[in-house]
Amino acid sequence: MLAASGLCKSFGGIKAVNEAKIEVLKGSITGLIGPNGAGKTTLFNLLSNFIRPDKGRVIFDGEQIQQLQPYQIAQQGLVRTFQVARTLSRLSVLENMLLAAQKQTGESFWQVQLQPHLVAKEEKQLQERAMFLLESVGLAQKAQDYAGCLSGGQRKLLEMGRALMTNPKLILLDEPAAGVNPRLIDDICDRIVTWNRQDGLTFLIIEHNMDVIMSLCDRVWVLAEGQNLADGSPSEIQTNSQVLEAYLGK
Ligand code: ATP
Repeated sequence: MLAASGLCKSFGGIKAVNEAKIEVLKGSITGLIGPNGAGKTTLFNLLSNFIRPDKGRVIFDGEQIQQLQPYQIAQQGLVRTFQVARTLSRLSVLENMLLAAQKQTGESFWQVQLQPHLVAKEEKQLQERAMFLLESVGLAQKAQDYAGCLSGGQRKLLEMGRALMTNPKLILLDEPAAGVNPRLIDDICDRIVTWNRQDGLTFLIIEHNMDVIMSLCDRVWVLAEGQNLADGSPSEIQTNSQVLEAYLGK
């Protein structure tokens, strides 16, 4: 479903991503791990074109996408969440969901506004879908609350709900468990498995929580210092000496 190769991005003298490649099979839950500063988030930014690569190509669902804007990539079915969840604090949880379904025009995320006519026109259908998805992320009771009142973990769930509102094929999740109450982490994992198995959604997940990665993923890619270090099944990665060395030092 996703194949990227030869990706490079430097910031000044820092080669954040250096000739990296990654593949995500349709229907899989794929993990992306690596020590702090390995280039994982930069790779996500390159895959979703939030930043332009210096070099390399990205093929999603059979088409090259690096010439597209992020909102156009989202329209093709590739959406992503952020390490620090991006929600609009002064809109309600439900309004945040409705906004995600609105056809995006390339405006900055923080500038887009809910279009009242659109909500009026498709109100019933959209609201039903939004409420169904809020139910599935456990936020239905919070639908009318300001998004700014949610905890960090709930904001991550809302961001996943927003991603699902766009009818995606592939979701890139940037650290879905980071900063989340441990009681919520199992819940988030269960939901990811359900969306994958029942709804056929494909996931690429960055996560430092190895229990999450090892329990969820079919295949794991490891980056270190911007370069591919290894890829394989969770058990292969857990016992790979280069990976252990990158994490623990020699
Ligand atoms: P973490 O696990 O800590 O989130 P990461 O693997 O996601 O790290 P990146 O955030 O992609 O790593 O950063 C890779 C390298 O690129 C780091 O050295 C970081 O400081 C640098 N970097 C990332 N974004 C920028 C930027 N906008 N400007 C300058 N340097 C950057």
